[in-house]
Parts: sequence; structure tokens; C-alpha cells
Amino acid sequence: MPYIDPHIHMVSRTTDDYAAMAAAGCVAVTEPAFWAGFDRSSPEGFRDYFRQLTQVEPRRAAPFGIDHYCWLCVNPKEAEDPAFAREVIQLIPEFLDAPNVLGIGEIGLNRNTRNELQILEEQIAFAAEHDQLILVHTPHLEDKRKGTTLILDALRRNGNISTDRVLIDHVEEHTIRMVLDEGYWAGMTLYPDTKCTPQRAADLIECYGSERLWVNSAGDWGHSDPLAVPKFQQEFRARGHAADAVDRVTLDNPRAFLSQCERFSAG
Ligand SMILES: [Zn+2]
Repeated sequence: MPYIDPHIHMVSRTTDDYAAMAAAGCVAVTEPAFWAGFDRSSPEGFRDYFRQLTQVEPRRAAPFGIDHYCWLCVNPKEAEDPAFAREVIQLIPEFLDAPNVLGIGEIGLNRNTRNELQILEEQIAFAAEHDQLILVHTPHLEDKRKGTTLILDALRRNGNISTDRVLIDHVEEHTIRMVLDEGYWAGMTLYPDTKCTPQRAADLIECYGSERLWVNSAGDWGHSDPLAVPKFQQEFRARGHAADAVDRVTLDNPRAFLSQCERFSAG
């Protein structure tokens, strides 16, 4: 079945992954800027990363019939040093007009520190100033609920952000409600170890419905599965849900959110 994986880190994946994803029905991916698995030694390292996201990766995806889009930011893990983070943010404007850039992301919190929160607020303000969509990373495990609350507070404090232009990613059972209730979009990440499994994601949709909800693999350089979205499709179909109910979560919803950026035309 056709699908969009709206959160996957293809710079860390092989061309075999692109081939397998295309065979499974992937028509488009969107790739948020994130931690590379190691801290960059200088803000200039991000200039090359942003070139990779805006120039190299779309060319690598194209032969497989997959449209590649991306998001730009300094990730929360490398936002602990505010001076470093601000230098990275200053690099973003020169890439904002690239044809595959959809917005600012994945911004958010990692360990819920004061410095991370400061840089999060500055990047929310940056997105508002430049009229960009926002994709938000929420912290892992025991930090998730508090972090999600802090993030929603920061978005509200800014006051210039429309909730339907923000997707809060990596929601789980204990955070999905607060995100949807405030009018944001929510993403469920299908991960082998932490985060959701395809089964838990299907349970959540059966409990909360599929409005303003998507699933993604967040495949990256670690233990992750670039075919997690088609595996979710299989799980959802196996439970007896109709094909259009599967499409809503894996194709129509991502398309609806992403199409708020006029550059997005895939799927
Ligand atoms: Zn990510």
C-alpha cells in the first residue's frame, strides 16, 4: 500500500533501505534535522549537514521514486550549549528557501534542561517569524510527560503559533491526550525498543481515533526499522480495519499536515 514516512533519518540509511521502502509502497519521506549519534565539533558541521539534507539526500532518494523533504534546526541534544546552538540557528536562513524544506524541526527537549528550553523558545520564535511549520521531538521514557508539558507551555507562551501547524512527535499512551486536546497534530514513532510498537500504535488509534495522527519509523543510525510504517499497515489491516482507514493514518493525514507547506506535493 502507498505510504509516507514523515519522520526518518535517511542520511543514516543505505540505498538498500530506499529500495525496500519503495517496494513496500513508500512515496515520500520527510527528514527532520537531528543528532548524528555524536556531537558535532563545531557549528560549521551543521552547514554540511544542512547541505546533505537539502541537496544530497533528495538526489539519493529520487531514483527510487521517493520524494525527499526535510526540516532544519539545532536538535535539543546539541542545544545544551546556547552559544553553540545560536550559531547553528544563524545558519538556517541560507537554507530555508531550498525546494525540499518544510519547516523547523525536530526541535524540542531531551533532558528537559533550562538551556534546552531556552533554545526551544528561540526556535519557536524563529519559526513564527519565518512562518514555518514545526515538528517537535519529545523526550524519551521517564522524561516524556514532563517534557511534553514544558513544550506545550512554551508553544502557548509564544502566542504566534497556530496549533494546527505544529506536530508533536513520539507521543505515547500518557501524552497523546494532552497533545490532541490542545489542537496539535500528534506523531507515533514505531521503534523496536523504546517508543511505540506497531501493535501499541494500533491500540492507540482504536482508543483515540485517527484524526490529526500519523505514524513514522524515525529510522536512524541506531537500532530502528525503516519498514516500520508498512508493518503498522499490516497490523492495522490484520485487525480488520478497512484499507481507507489505513490510508488515513499512513497517507492522508501526513499529506494534510505537510501540504500546509506549499512545497509539499507528494503522495
Ligand atoms: Zn528523529
